[in-house]
Amino acid sequence: MDWNFASAVVTGGAGFVGSHLCERLLSLGTKVVCVDNFATGARENLWELLDTPGFSLVEADVTTWPADPPGDVDLVFHLASPASPRDYLRLPFETLAAGSTGTAWALDLARRHDARFLLASTSEVYGDPGQHPQREDYWGNVNPIGPRSVYDEAKRYAEAYTAAARREWQADTTIARIFNTYGPRMRAEDGRMIPAFAGQALRGEPLTVAGSGEQTRSICYVDDTVTGLLALAASTHPGPVNIGNPHELTVLEIAEEIRRLTGTRAPIRHIPAAEDDPRRRCPDIGLARAELGWAPEITSADGLARTLRWFGGPASRSA
Ligand code: NAD
Ligand code: UDP
Repeated sequence: MDWNFASAVVTGGAGFVGSHLCERLLSLGTKVVCVDNFATGARENLWELLDTPGFSLVEADVTTWPADPPGDVDLVFHLASPASPRDYLRLPFETLAAGSTGTAWALDLARRHDARFLLASTSEVYGDPGQHPQREDYWGNVNPIGPRSVYDEAKRYAEAYTAAARREWQADTTIARIFNTYGPRMRAEDGRMIPAFAGQALRGEPLTVAGSGEQTRSICYVDDTVTGLLALAASTHPGPVNIGNPHELTVLEIAEEIRRLTGTRAPIRHIPAAEDDPRRRCPDIGLARAELGWAPEITSADGLARTLRWFGGPASRSA
């Protein structure tokens, strides 16, 4: 990968994906300004970074049009947004604002610095998909007024804004559609499937599988996702490009794998299905392979073992 960016701004850099991204950017020799208001992120995600030369933190809300971060900007990654269903359901207006006003601010910053801009969009733009696996030219099936719409539609708006900036300003933009990503630094209580199952299994509590558990997800380890985001940033591709792992599993299979890796005897407990929960989700990554030469490398067994080790799982320590 040809990497020519001296300085980057990462909105949402104190979050789960953002903190890994900041780390990798610094390891490539890129200076990083992280802009975050800690709505769903954590200062402890940045502990090691705060002392790293080239890293700085601006505590600010991107939806209130904050002052420009200091220094040059060659690249803007816009990740700031609540991302777990539990978070965006409790922060509906903040989520809508992060996708709309927050995206406008981040794009304006990129425009004024003539910087490349990458929007962290999501597989949620496909909604409950009518096409399987999902390719980038599929327009999606989203309930515009359901509870998840605050996230899905905010991201769809963010994509529309980014596409307009490219058309109207000739801005150098791209869009990553990120599929379910997991790994160290997910918040134990963020309600997403993997931290929920990991915490439950490690405490010996029943694993709460929503509905029948036959719904599918395709889970991508965070290191692979970050490599994909960097490859897309380094390219000239306008996106959208799916960044995800095409290995599709049912939610029940994921729960069973976590039971196996932790050695827990705790049972599965079925809980009511979430409203508008997508039934299938799997990326077609043909475009990312062809245009970026990228594909994920970490298997779910390996990635889950690493994640469980981080969450403190005894049975995974040898993995
Ligand atoms: P996260 O909640 O851990 O991180 C989001 C970060 O954005 C947090 O640090 C939060 O404090 C910050 N933030 C939120 N609103 C803000 C605001 N108004 N101003 C400044 N900072 C703000 O979530 P994550 O899983 O790391 O997701 C990061 C990005 O990637 C999000 O945009 C999300 O939509 C996207 N994404 C993630 C996944 C995934 O599986 N993790 C999948 C698809 C897309
Ligand atoms: N899920 C579950 N039990 C939980 C949390 C989530 O069965 O304790 C299910 C959820 O209903 C969905 C899948 O796991 O079908 C993935 O949910 P997550 O919140 O991780 O991400 P989503 O893909 O829905 O954004």
